[in-house]
Amino acid sequence: MTAVMGNYGRIDLAFDHGDGAWLVTADGERYLDCAAGIAVNTLGHGHPHLVSALKNQAEKLWHVSNLYRIPEQEQLAQTLTRLSGLNKAFFCNSGAEATEAAVKMARRAMHHRGEHGRHTILSSQGAFHGRTIAMLAATDRPVFREGFGPMPTGFDHFPFGNMNVLRDQLAQDAKDGDPGIAAVMVESVQGEGGAKPLPEHFMEELRAACDEFGCLLIADEVQIGVGRSGHIFSFEQSGIKPDIVAMAKGLAGGFPIGAVLATDEVAAGMTAGSHGSTFGGNPLAMASANAVLEVLESDGFMAGVRARSARLAAGLDEISTSPGGKFCRRGHGFLQGLVFHDDYPAMDVVKAYRDHHILTVPASENTVRLLPPLTLNDDEISRVLDVTATIMTDLEKAT
Ligand SMILES: *Cc1c(COP(=O)(O)O)cnc(C)c1O
Repeated sequence: MTAVMGNYGRIDLAFDHGDGAWLVTADGERYLDCAAGIAVNTLGHGHPHLVSALKNQAEKLWHVSNLYRIPEQEQLAQTLTRLSGLNKAFFCNSGAEATEAAVKMARRAMHHRGEHGRHTILSSQGAFHGRTIAMLAATDRPVFREGFGPMPTGFDHFPFGNMNVLRDQLAQDAKDGDPGIAAVMVESVQGEGGAKPLPEHFMEELRAACDEFGCLLIADEVQIGVGRSGHIFSFEQSGIKPDIVAMAKGLAGGFPIGAVLATDEVAAGMTAGSHGSTFGGNPLAMASANAVLEVLESDGFMAGVRARSARLAAGLDEISTSPGGKFCRRGHGFLQGLVFHDDYPAMDVVKAYRDHHILTVPASENTVRLLPPLTLNDDEISRVLDVTATIMTDLEKAT
């Protein structure tokens, strides 16, 4: 029927256009988009500021390569470093390219310091860092790896949220005399892992442990970044500063992009010719990302995201704790997870939402993920809550 490869379990549904937080089929059926292209459509569909920025750029210049200076890239780097407190930015085209470049930068920084054997990257069990061969090694879940081995060496894992075990691993590594751990890479809220936040104060303790043992802290903000947590960077809440930040998904509101931010110390290792990307940082992607950040930085926008996402979370909590509630809510901002009891497969709940014309995304640990555009308004939030309550009643009747 289709010549497209079968590596996705696709739903038989196609959209013709978008309208804010809504997707519309060719027949005019409207769906409230709480998937946002998996955390990509930060400002929903057809946001006027984004459309005009991309249109203007499309008429001027699409691509020149990194053989030349790209002013739009310099502008985005300036904004991202100002907002993050890091010093330098590198641009690529996707999340896996960003996490992979982050790992390369961490290893190179150790090489640059003269610590040549220090190349291991520790990441969390249950994490998701992308699908390249190396990022599969950073992602310990067997379902992603099956048949793709052998995995590259130089990756190891620690139990989710377990600072004691992580510290033991770092201490043991240091005791060997010739430390091998270059960096610890974490998502502050695991996205694919089921909207699962790290325990409170974990990031602060991780920062302290990395400093104590001389390794680098990589924040994978590919999913939770760009305002989704309620802050432009999710690490803002903890008050710490990572050494390296990987970004992608929502950064250009739907245009493919990846970015890595780094401290001066890390960036010093990335000398001319050390890494690159043909498309990375092209003017179209840069114009889109600059436009997204202009909106996020506009007056009151992020405060509005915090207020509206708090309303969504409170409403979900109310449903989950009332009789007939069948899930626990977790997550931050507009990355919310409804963790269901095994009797209610997340896939079935996602389908139930879809039957009510709301799009959601399943995740591991039997979780239904809600990742709407950051522009989701109060009426739309009420709609999500009403439908959620209806689905609970329907599930109750079915059992
Ligand atoms: C999606 C995701 C990636 C991979 O991004 P791609 O653009 O699909 O390569 C990496 N890290 C996290 C946390 C993600 O959610």
